[in-house]
Amino acid sequence: MTQILIIGASRGIGLELVRQYRADGAQVVATARSDEGLAALRELGATALKLDVADTASASGLAWQIDGRQFDTVFIVAGVYGPRHTGLQSPTASEFDDVMHTNVLGPMRVLPQLPDYLAPGAKLAIISSRMGSIGERTSAAGWLYRASKAAANSVLKDASLLLAGKATCLSFHPGWVRTDMGGSGADIDVADSVSGMRRALAAAEPEDNGSFRNYDGQPISW
Ligand code: NDP
Repeated sequence: MTQILIIGASRGIGLELVRQYRADGAQVVATARSDEGLAALRELGATALKLDVADTASASGLAWQIDGRQFDTVFIVAGVYGPRHTGLQSPTASEFDDVMHTNVLGPMRVLPQLPDYLAPGAKLAIISSRMGSIGERTSAAGWLYRASKAAANSVLKDASLLLAGKATCLSFHPGWVRTDMGGSGADIDVADSVSGMRRALAAAEPEDNGSFRNYDGQPISW
């Protein structure tokens, strides 16, 4: 049976990934940092693990919690937006730490624990954002979030080199999605974003390893 791991799945895009993979009959292991999040995962029939990617002890305990499993697909989803700056405004040290620890250090804590738990030919995705693209940038709003997602893209690229031959790794822009983060005025429904990314990841070939994609599979410039 197909085995899926989703990191950061209490709500929004992560929870919808769990819902869709469970509806397909896959075995899903998913993480949340709150009791409410864990309950939501169990309700969907997932194996729910407690994990806060911004907490050293919690995040480094993933490997022993997944010991013995072989995942066909992994999504690293957990993320925060942070301050909604529109100009040259300095983040506070704690705002910087919160965003960078979650969006950058989080994947850097999770990824090193995964190699022994990837099935042959596994697919691995980080949910980044088009806002992290430097090549496509025409707005500077949310510069801390943008910097964190540009760094997350760098992390994914390095993971793709280090895991080449073992996993196909993609960085995804999920679209502007109607979730708590995206808001009700966003472009697309979470179900469409998630079904698009699942399709694009399933269709990815080893030669696509280390690429940055829109949720519909179209390439995005770094
Ligand atoms: P939500 O705000 O709805 O959900 C964020 C998720 O991340 C929640 O499950 C939250 O858990 C989890 N999370 C945050 N911090 C941590 C942490 N320290 N440890 C573990 N989990 C954590 O956002 P979305 O679902 O919209 O976003 C998911 C991803 O997609 C993010 O990485 C985001 O940057 C990215 N993205 C979203 C876009 C959009 O338009 N929505 C656009 C581009 C990218 P909890 O419930 O405990 O807070």
